[in-house]
Amino acid sequence: MSMFPLNKLQEIETPFYYYNMDLLDDTLRTIKKESEKYNYHIHYAVKANANQRILKTINSFGFGADCVSGNEVAASIEAGFTSDRVVFAGVGKSDKEINIGLNNNIGCFNVESIPELEVINELAEKAGKVAGIALRINPNVKANTHHYITTGLEENKFGIYIWDLEKVMAKFKDLKNVEFKGIHFHIGSQIQDLESFKQLCVRVNELQEWFEQNRYFPQIINVGGGLGIDYEKPVENPIPDFKAFFKVFGDFLELKEGQEVHFELGRSVVAQCGTLMSKVIYVKEGVNTSFAIVDAGMSDLIRPALYQAYHKIDNLTSLGADQKYDVVGPICESSDCFGKAVTLPETKRGDLIAIRSAGAYGEVMANQYNLRELPQAIYSSDL
Ligand SMILES: *Cc1c(COP(=O)(O)O)cnc(C)c1O
Repeated sequence: MSMFPLNKLQEIETPFYYYNMDLLDDTLRTIKKESEKYNYHIHYAVKANANQRILKTINSFGFGADCVSGNEVAASIEAGFTSDRVVFAGVGKSDKEINIGLNNNIGCFNVESIPELEVINELAEKAGKVAGIALRINPNVKANTHHYITTGLEENKFGIYIWDLEKVMAKFKDLKNVEFKGIHFHIGSQIQDLESFKQLCVRVNELQEWFEQNRYFPQIINVGGGLGIDYEKPVENPIPDFKAFFKVFGDFLELKEGQEVHFELGRSVVAQCGTLMSKVIYVKEGVNTSFAIVDAGMSDLIRPALYQAYHKIDNLTSLGADQKYDVVGPICESSDCFGKAVTLPETKRGDLIAIRSAGAYGEVMANQYNLRELPQAIYSSDL
């Protein structure tokens, strides 16, 4: 546990998110080194963590920003991302949000339907601009080999269906204020089996043939994000295996002359550098179990309640003998539970509890249910 500056952390009012900025730097350096071998372009998926400090750090490595709302576009520009490195994705962009993108002259809109393409064209015409477009294509992968796609293809709201491609590409001929730049895919999140990314490459290669036969040229091949992290062993594996990840694309993606490959990494960039810190308020003996009631709740970190997600939990300040506890928050919902039957050293009021791997989809999803305060962010470089 020596990686935490415990003396300092114990002084800070809990709950709060603690960000290890050295680990973030190491992670970003690794991504840069491994992606540069293939000249890949990295965009950070801002939705994973939109703190200005985190965004500025990521921008300092020269990466781009992948945004899914107008406010994320604005936050990225504010953090210093140059507009050509900002892309805007999402199945339901409002007119107001599209205008934020247009006014900032962002590099690309990732478009998911014909009506959206028409609206962007109309708004771009009003603004006197031509918007760059990448089409998000639903890769139509077979469900049996791709268990990570949770909805069947027909019900999946994301992307343009392959059978509609001809119609969509024909649209570009009529619409003068949108320009076709590339194709975009995103197959899911927390994917640890690299075989899935190989399957994506195979699918992209097939689609490339279709574009070539029809004399269209996608300059950008955006393969999305989704690389998983090790929630079970965050201390042993703080940085995902980016080398192996990029190698899959290097080995299996067949590129045409002049094409650029883009990635949109979220979780794999920021998850491990963040920890939700809380203190034990009470230990309560239940009928079959002991409850460690902590001062963080599902309003601070909703992933366990929302997806039954696992986060490793450590007691940073006790050296007692191991026991089992259900670690629960104070909120009036039974799902406000961070872990059942968690083995912790004997735990008492005031102990500092670390909920690990919480840097992605943690603070950014915090809310004020029960009129609780939003958790603060503490950065290691400030301590
Ligand atoms: C969420 C999302 C990402 C990032 O996914 P991670 O699993 O966090 O890497 C990338 N692209 C799109 C389109 C997304 O919706």
